[in-house]
Amino acid sequence: MTLSAETTLAASVHELCKDYVLSGETVRALRGVSFDVPQGDYISIMGASGSGKSTLLNLLGCLDRPTAGKYLLGGDDVATLSDDRLAETRARRIGFVFQSYNLLPALSVAENIQVPLYYSGQLTVEARERCLELAALVGLESRLRHRPAELSGGQQQRVAIARSLVNNPRFILADEPTGNLDSSTTAEILELLATLNAEGRTIILVTHEPDVAEHTKRTLVLRDGLLLSDKRR
Ligand code: ADP
Ligand code: MG
Repeated sequence: MTLSAETTLAASVHELCKDYVLSGETVRALRGVSFDVPQGDYISIMGASGSGKSTLLNLLGCLDRPTAGKYLLGGDDVATLSDDRLAETRARRIGFVFQSYNLLPALSVAENIQVPLYYSGQLTVEARERCLELAALVGLESRLRHRPAELSGGQQQRVAIARSLVNNPRFILADEPTGNLDSSTTAEILELLATLNAEGRTIILVTHEPDVAEHTKRTLVLRDGLLLSDKRR
C-alpha cells in the first residue's frame, strides 16, 4: 500500500513530559504534550518565555530524551534507540537552525556549511559540491571564503540554514531563527524556509513573533508545559 504524503506522519508525540532537576528542585518543563506532525507540515510553536518551547524542540530534535511519554520519529520509537543510533538518526534526518546561528568563527562560510559532514565522515567530492550548491541556494556563492564575523546576521543565518541541509534532512527544526534579525532580513529567511517547505520538508519553528507564525501553516501554543491550542491556518 502506498500512503499519500498527507497521511504519512513525519513525527508524533504522545503525553510527552520533561522534568529538569536543578539543585534538588524539579522543574516540570513539559507536562504531557500530544500532537501529530504530518509529512510536509510547517508548524510554529509559540508561548511565553519558560513555557517549554525549547524543551519541546530539543526533544523533537533528539538532543535530549523525554522523562515520560512517547516520541515517534518517522515511525521509529525514539526511546528504543541506543545513544549511537539516536545520534545517527539526528544527523541523517534532522536539520537544526538556532537563533544565534552557532557558526564556528574560525571557519569560512564553505567550511561552516560542511561541518555536519565532518561528523558523519562523508566529506566526499560529491558532498563538497553539494555544499557549494547549498551556498548558492541561500545566495552566498560569492561569500564562500568569508568568516562569519564578516557577514551580516541574515547572511550568517543563511549559512546556518545551508549547513542544516547538508545531509538532506526531511525535518527542519528552528529555534527563534529570526529572533536576532530585522524585519526585512526576517522576511528573506521566511521566504527561504517557505521554499524548503514547498520542496516537501517538514518544518517546526519556535517564535514569539505573531508575524512570523503567520507564515506557517499551523500554530501550537504552549503554556506552563501544556499545549494550550493547536490551530491550522
Ligand atoms: P522556552 O523555550 O519556552 O522559554 P524552555 O523550554 O527553555 O522554555 O524552559 C521551560 C522550563 O524549563 C523553564 O522553567 C526553564 O527554566 C526550565 N529549564 C529549561 N532547561 C533547563 C535545564 N537544562 N535545567 C533546568 N531547568 C531548565
Ligand atoms: Mg526557548
